[in-house]
Amino acid sequence: MMRKTIGVTSVLLGLAAAGGALAQSYPTKMINMVVPYAAGGPTDTVARVMGQAMTKPLGQTVVVENRPSAGGIIGPEMVKNARPDGYTILIHHIGMATTPALYRSLRFKPIEDFEPIGLINDVPMTLVARGNFPAKDFKEFLAYVKANKDKVTYANAGIGAASHLCGMLFMNAIQINMLTVPYKGTAPAMNDLLGGQVDFMCDQTTNTTTQIKSGKVKVYAVTSKKRVPSLPEVPTLDELGLKGFDVGIWHALYAPKGTPKAVIDKLAAALQEGIKDDTVKKRFADLGAEAVPLDKANPAALAAHLRTEINKWGPIIKRAGVYAD
Ligand code: ASP
Repeated sequence: MMRKTIGVTSVLLGLAAAGGALAQSYPTKMINMVVPYAAGGPTDTVARVMGQAMTKPLGQTVVVENRPSAGGIIGPEMVKNARPDGYTILIHHIGMATTPALYRSLRFKPIEDFEPIGLINDVPMTLVARGNFPAKDFKEFLAYVKANKDKVTYANAGIGAASHLCGMLFMNAIQINMLTVPYKGTAPAMNDLLGGQVDFMCDQTTNTTTQIKSGKVKVYAVTSKKRVPSLPEVPTLDELGLKGFDVGIWHALYAPKGTPKAVIDKLAAALQEGIKDDTVKKRFADLGAEAVPLDKANPAALAAHLRTEINKWGPIIKRAGVYAD
């Protein structure tokens, strides 16, 4: 019995040592960064910028893998179930903090099932409509929506997506319910907006800036409390009368629970190198986003932020009475 106990202990110690050695040599092969939304959308855009920037400090390619689903709930589940070896990581946005209140049967727990790596950036959102939407400014937009509430369609990336949160708060603020059309990401939603199949959506500047600047979509407002430097002429919803309206999206990186600390530290260090990179800063700025300060790009800061955001959004969502399931 005694000998058996010693045997198990030494096997465990041996495994831990092997794990430690593996963590020291990490990474020895490419790393998958899972995006829970469609390719070409705002989360995907941030993933591709960061994947490229982190490739150099890690010395291995960071490959973006899209696992799109409405609400972005499949990607986190997949990463939760991946081997905790640092070769599968997740990029996600505010949805990590809002989905627990929206889904009663969510198959992952944002805090318990993941190791936080660090925060990446903050991204404001914009209220945009198809190019031929019959309203030249927000006042006309509101009047049109009120007069046509049964036929105006609002696109989003499913319940739990940032576009859903923003739309839900917007509809609450103007006291009108509209027909929602869910997609597996706002890249396909944008395609339909450009094609005129849906009327409007609220989406990150990382997906809308190019279309706004080329005049392919109409922009009525930004959702942040302050105007966005890359879209200086666009008013905030707060300025337009929806007092206190302030929705900002943040992105962050996570690994499956149990990923060795030495691996998480290497990923966090690569994340920090990435957001220090001038090319990354410029790309984010052009798209209306801003990299977080360096001291936020680490596990402790993300863990604290995630808790704060869960505590902030949970009650707001419960009050709104929205459930996905
Ligand atoms: N911006 C989308 C949303 O959360 C997700 C995406 O397609 O990246 O609504």
